[in-house]
Amino acid sequence: MVKNLPLKKLSHAGLTIEGYSRAAVQTYWRIPELKLGFDLGAQPWDFMGTPNWFISHTHMDHIAALPVYLARRRMMKMEPPTIYLPGLAIGPLNDMLNAFTRLDRGKLPCKFVAVQPGDEIELNREYVVQVGKSEHTVPALSFLVWHRKNKLKEQFQGIDGQTIRDLRQDGIEVSAEQRVPILGYTGDTTVAGLDNMPELYQAKILITEMTFVAANHSKEKIKKNGHMHLSDFIERQDRFENEVVIAAHFSTRYSDSFIRRTVEKALPGLFDGRLHLWL
Ligand SMILES: [Zn+2]
Ligand SMILES: [Zn+2]
Repeated sequence: MVKNLPLKKLSHAGLTIEGYSRAAVQTYWRIPELKLGFDLGAQPWDFMGTPNWFISHTHMDHIAALPVYLARRRMMKMEPPTIYLPGLAIGPLNDMLNAFTRLDRGKLPCKFVAVQPGDEIELNREYVVQVGKSEHTVPALSFLVWHRKNKLKEQFQGIDGQTIRDLRQDGIEVSAEQRVPILGYTGDTTVAGLDNMPELYQAKILITEMTFVAANHSKEKIKKNGHMHLSDFIERQDRFENEVVIAAHFSTRYSDSFIRRTVEKALPGLFDGRLHLWL
């Protein structure tokens, strides 16, 4: 294992969240169990095996490691990965990759898939990713992973297996799809990114941003820069139904201890221990 970048981990509900995110520095997350990652601001060496990436937006601290990631996968003879992202980004990113191919003399194969708010991507039979709209200074997306399974409809529960099979043979729909939101990611956004897709407040795990925490930051300016402030979390504290809320992407102007002190004072108990400051 090569250690080349900072990384923090948290395990919950059968998922491992690995990542790091500081504003203007770099942002990268991955969930090995789901074989997917969010944003490519940098690329820890061990992340290269993850084949599906969802890009929230194309600020440098969220996309700069794309060529590095593609080159490593090609070198290791892995399949070209699939990158889901705002469609507007594909042209400029292809130009960038072509420039790197000329500089590096190596191909950088990948499959870009343009996605927009409202889209649903089937990862496999069990998992679907819903795309939402974040509010930032460039086009920005949020992502919500749903776990789905077929469950017997209520009126058929408790009936023996043979009867169920007979009903199925008669063409009767005995089961219905049931969906549970398991993981949300907002990328960089004003609080509208959360409000636009209220299911994000219900995801078992929510990864989001809290770029600003100091009381003296003007709300208007923060909104104009497309970010969230601690006060957004205070105002909406009753809405977060998540089992885990990861707050990340803190501004580099604050020390870790200042962030901890300020947030703990404003939100004593940190949502009964559900709010994790990613520091
Ligand atoms: Zn950012
Ligand atoms: Zn950004």
